[in-house]
Order: sequence, then structure tokens, then C-alpha cells
Amino acid sequence: MITMERVMAAIRAAQILLDLRDWNIKGEIATQEKLQEMLRITPTDDEKVLGCVLIHDEYKQATITIWDDLDTIEHYGGLQQVVFHECLHIIFYPLAQTFRRSISKMSNQVKDAYLWIYSLFEEQIINQLANSIIGIIYASGGKNEKETE
Ligand SMILES: [Zn+2]
Repeated sequence: MITMERVMAAIRAAQILLDLRDWNIKGEIATQEKLQEMLRITPTDDEKVLGCVLIHDEYKQATITIWDDLDTIEHYGGLQQVVFHECLHIIFYPLAQTFRRSISKMSNQVKDAYLWIYSLFEEQIINQLANSIIGIIYASGGKNEKETE
């Protein structure tokens, strides 16, 4: 079961490992419906939203929202991987902002296409990095977060 204690423990661990200690990162738990609403998307049945992050970089504040039923699916690294993933978005945020600014004068159609491609790349890179971090934790004898309960 996803609890606030587990979410906050995973956030604290990720903040230390990713050197995001100066950030104020809050945790939240939400239903699939709420997550989809937050992201304004309609994923397919086999593609659930595992989590999302809201970033206010000027205040170094972020809120990570985790799907309440995350434990019911098979997902490499579980909660820990999702939290690392969302924290990596914080690191990528200045790059994403620079990219958004650089295309701001383009037509909406072109802008949407570029943003779609950028998001796809960012998601793939972040997933690879988050999986690598989980792999390193496992390989170094670090426990799966679920096992430590
Ligand atoms: Zn993501």
C-alpha cells in the first residue's frame, strides 16, 4: 500500500542521491482519475500514470504526486523508481524551460509537435536514468524499498 511515510522516505532518499537537498519537495497520493486530470491526458488501460511532479523552480519547491494503486502493477523499482523519475524532471526543468522559450515564437502547430517530441525524449532519458539508479542501488546491495518495510 502506498502511504505518505513511504512516499516521503523515497523522496528524501532521492533528494540526497540527486543532490536536491536544497529543494522543498512535498509528497501526495492520488487516484488514477485525479492524476489523469492533473496531466490533462487520457492514457490507455495498459498505460497508467504512475506519478507526476509540479515544479516551482523560482522557490525551489515541488510536489510529487504518486498513484495510490502503484503497488498493484508490475513496475521495475516500484515507488522508488517513480520518485527518482519525478525528481529527475526537477533536474531537467531548466532545460525544458529553455527549450519552451526557444520555440515560443513558432506557430502553435509546430510548437505542439516540438513539445511532443521533446517530452518523449525527456521521458525516455529520465526513465533510463531512473532505471539505472535503481539498478545501481540493487547491485550495491541496497534493498528494494518494498523489502525494507
Ligand atoms: Zn515523466
